[in-house]
Amino acid sequence: MRKKNSWQEFQIIDLIRQRSGRLGVRDQIGIGDDTSAHCVDPRKLELITCDALVEGVHWESPWCDPESLGVKSAAVNLSDIAAMGGTPQRAFLVLALPAKTARPFIIRLIDGLVGELSRFGVRLAGGDTVLSPGPIMVSLTVQGTAAAGAVIRRTGARPGDLLLVTGELGTASAGLGLLRRPRLRIPVRDRVVQRWLRPLPRLREGNLLAQSGKVRAMIDLSDGLAGDTRRLTQASQTGACIFASQLPVSLEARMAARALKCNPLDLALCGGEDYELLFSCPSPHAPKLINKLRKRTGTICTVVGKILPQREGLYLTRPDGCRVDMPSGWEHGASEKRDFLP
Ligand code: ADP
Ligand code: MG
Repeated sequence: MRKKNSWQEFQIIDLIRQRSGRLGVRDQIGIGDDTSAHCVDPRKLELITCDALVEGVHWESPWCDPESLGVKSAAVNLSDIAAMGGTPQRAFLVLALPAKTARPFIIRLIDGLVGELSRFGVRLAGGDTVLSPGPIMVSLTVQGTAAAGAVIRRTGARPGDLLLVTGELGTASAGLGLLRRPRLRIPVRDRVVQRWLRPLPRLREGNLLAQSGKVRAMIDLSDGLAGDTRRLTQASQTGACIFASQLPVSLEARMAARALKCNPLDLALCGGEDYELLFSCPSPHAPKLINKLRKRTGTICTVVGKILPQREGLYLTRPDGCRVDMPSGWEHGASEKRDFLP
């Protein structure tokens, strides 16, 4: 699944951005954030995002059932709307299917997808269906809205802000590890694999954070805390440090990591697909935000780091107090890097 390749995702996105021309007068956000944003009226922005899941790259049929594939495709897109503080409305589905795809597979996929969308009041409003000569591809586009002043970009972090995450980190990639090793049976297996198969889009949390007016920058965690911190700080032109000893890694994820013979902090930093929200706010506002989220949504929220001036770079403070360069997160086409923690 994680193969060496002749191109790297972020280089390609940069190339596309350079060649894509200027934004229109009503476009507020183009390539480079979790969604685009377009001014519909003076008080409202329209948000649009899309994400594709490809068989053999994002999942494999023996261990990913069609309902979960549908749920996941919806959830990862809804998560991008959450990362802007928006509210999703409509979705458009592109399906590329091999000729041999069985009808029950398609029914289960669509039921999973539509079910997850409707949990958040989103309608499937269109799409396209094409033949694939190889793998299945599920590509979803989601449109939503946000109040004009309340959208949270990746660009607003300032030195001195604290960095916080919702929920727990590393469980999803532990789940992926277990799904790929079906014979590795541990008591928490089902709960851990569900976190990979069916991520929880943090829409209520994203809305509350946007409405608070205290959050300066936000991104959803698709590529691991390390990689997405890098993206948030690049967009904000800052540095940051992450405190490895403070990462919220659940007991279940630790048990799964032990069974998988890997370091749970590696999973939290580089594993990816947690779809939690990473955000920055001035430090005096952090305790209130943490309380508010817990009271209103039941979701825990943890301080995991601090925004620094850009010249101080991006580093990780290990549990033993040593500073190390921030590892890379997951990137399509890049080789895997691990083992930076003792
Ligand atoms: P996310 O992980 O939040 O879904 P991505 O890493 O996929 O974001 O993309 C980063 C940014 O680059 C987004 O603004 C996305 O819309 C844009 N982007 C990615 N691929 C393309 C592409 N092929 N064409 C145009 N924009 C792209
Ligand atoms: Mg995102």
